[in-house]
Amino acid sequence: MNDAGEFGFELRTCRWAERQWPLEATSDRAVIVARQLGTRDRRWDTIVLECDPDALRKRANFGSNRLDSDLLHVVRNAPADWAYYRDALPDPGYPWRYVRESIHRADDRGILETRKRANRIEIRRKWPYPDWLERVVAIENKPDLDASAARALGAQLEYDVAVALADEVWVATRPTGERVEPVLFEDLPIEAGVLALEPETLSASVEWYPRSLAVDEPGTRILERPAGGARDGSAARFEYVDPAEKRQTRLEIAERAYERGWRSFVETMRPDCRHFELRARTGGQAMPYCHAHGGCQTAAACSGSCPEFEPEPPTWRTHGWPIEGGPGTRLQQLLETRRRRNRPGAD
Ligand code: SF4
Repeated sequence: MNDAGEFGFELRTCRWAERQWPLEATSDRAVIVARQLGTRDRRWDTIVLECDPDALRKRANFGSNRLDSDLLHVVRNAPADWAYYRDALPDPGYPWRYVRESIHRADDRGILETRKRANRIEIRRKWPYPDWLERVVAIENKPDLDASAARALGAQLEYDVAVALADEVWVATRPTGERVEPVLFEDLPIEAGVLALEPETLSASVEWYPRSLAVDEPGTRILERPAGGARDGSAARFEYVDPAEKRQTRLEIAERAYERGWRSFVETMRPDCRHFELRARTGGQAMPYCHAHGGCQTAAACSGSCPEFEPEPPTWRTHGWPIEGGPGTRLQQLLETRRRRNRPGAD
């Protein structure tokens, strides 16, 4: 399986999750799906946020762009009535001048009220920041899981289970048609779920249910492992991760996921190339397709350095797209519209 296959599989997993998650039919949670997000040490392929539907709608008041940790500090602690910002906000642990910058940014974005009294900046919240995130689900996509891929994946999943930043971790793989999927014989942590996903039809079956991880308890971050081998007696190095730090990290990841969704791939690809096309696939999904490569191209290949890149001819921009740009711009708008449709309450 080449990269294009893994990339295409990942996009199909995202679409499947958008349509089918949560798996329990009784759940009324809303879902946000994103890809390639995580921490400095660990990036997940697909991330599914299970959200309180009413709170998610209220989150839309704060705009479709993410709130970074500095903005979160301000809007989550902003008072209902006017107050001097240093009285209202907890000590940030870094210089107050950075807090003032965040206050101005929040004001510019229209998500905080500010005024000056006696040369002091006072703030008042516009809306309480809602508690919209309920669960974080991480999915690793491995369409063809051979033994060596399983070894690498096993170490990554052990890391996820130990730190317990996500509520659940899963592996999505392509079904083989065998009575027992071979992935179940691989040495993966039993806490990780296994999903067999057929990318053509978007049908999936759960081969192994995951365990919920203890996100509210201290986690263990594995920093280093013994290199292996019979003579390697060295110990693994690890550190504890405080539950409050995990909560904050989860929210920051969720904010990034809220902003980006999973269709952001088109932002780094070249839809303005004459070979670029979006093709309809089962499940109402528009998948990238490259005529020069004859298939789904990776986001990495479809970049400014692609040797086959050819700009869309200028005449494409003048026939029917007089203002908005050519078809490439239209494709970007199409994906942006779909992204917004999946954020309840967003304009
Ligand atoms: S030729 Fe290159 S730049 Fe053009 S669509 Fe294909 S991969 Fe993208």
